[in-house]
Amino acid sequence: MPKRDYYEILGVSRDTTDEELKKTYRKLAIKYHPDKNQGKKESEEKFKEISEAYEVLSDPQKRKSYDLFGHTQGPEGFGGFGGHESGGVGDIFSDIFEDFFGTTSRGRRPARGADLRYNLEISFEDAAFGLETKIKIPKWVNCTSCNGTGAKSASSFKACTTCRGSGQIRFQQGFFSVSRTCNHCLGEGKIITEKCSECKGDKKIHTERTLSLKIPPGVETGTKLRLTGEGEPGDNGGPPGDLYVFLTVKEHPLFTRENGDILYDTQISFVQAALGGKIEIPTLKSTTSLKIPPGTQHGKTFRLKGMGIVNLRNSSRIGDQVVRVNIKIPTKLTQRQQELLEEFAKTSEEKTDEESGIFEKVKNLFE
Ligand SMILES: [Zn+2]
Ligand SMILES: [Zn+2]
Repeated sequence: MPKRDYYEILGVSRDTTDEELKKTYRKLAIKYHPDKNQGKKESEEKFKEISEAYEVLSDPQKRKSYDLFGHTQGPEGFGGFGGHESGGVGDIFSDIFEDFFGTTSRGRRPARGADLRYNLEISFEDAAFGLETKIKIPKWVNCTSCNGTGAKSASSFKACTTCRGSGQIRFQQGFFSVSRTCNHCLGEGKIITEKCSECKGDKKIHTERTLSLKIPPGVETGTKLRLTGEGEPGDNGGPPGDLYVFLTVKEHPLFTRENGDILYDTQISFVQAALGGKIEIPTLKSTTSLKIPPGTQHGKTFRLKGMGIVNLRNSSRIGDQVVRVNIKIPTKLTQRQQELLEEFAKTSEEKTDEESGIFEKVKNLFE
């Protein structure tokens, strides 16, 4: 069932004042309060509904959001976004308000740092068995010498003259008094007089960090590993972003991979195929012998149970090594070999096409 409009629930107009809203809510709350309506399911539902509507509309921030986005980005959204400080409704908000009115208080709001992407190429074997390695991440960190202020010392500031230290510039636009962020100090309200010698006033310094990275067995090309909090630092006390390691797995000269299975193509002679025998085949870890039964046909596959790759999400599931047998037909025969094969053909019960009368049958088809 679609949710009813909050204004409709409370029976107020869209431009209702906070005062009017409060009064209306109080009236309705008293009327539908569960204590006064013992056991009445309807009243209870109604009470919940008006409480939720009031909760949103009485909060200026949530109300603005509700007006802009409706229920989809409404109160349910707030919890999930982790409040206003990081990439949530608050930010969508200030972006929109920035566009509409050229005003925002973004400059001082804590903001989450950017996520970083790191591309890493690993070998086929490392993808199969996992790997512990170290990676070097170029990243920006808050300058420790100025504590991220960008100034040489605490006294290296003066109040911004453009906005007189408020960070905002107010001006009249029609009936409204509008304020926008000061361009000169970018909303800080103060100007650095002497910059930090370490970061040159950037507040952050570019550096390289070495991180230990544990790659679990079973990863494949496209697997992303997240290192929480290893992204860029946040602004104004906001949390850091995350680092994502994007994996690419190199091709193997012998094996290919299909999910957890390792595919391997091998060749045997037609004599081996006919008589059977044992062949040695490579595996990811070493080699193993494979028994070829007599009468093996071209393209037949053999499964070596549990010789494949462990499932990334369920380590009790392990793939197989699948060996496909291709039969080599000799292209050159010695005189002796030819004689033997002709001899073989004579002794064989297999009849050639001519003997089995296939040509007779084909001829009959056209008669
Ligand atoms: Zn200013
Ligand atoms: Zn600095």
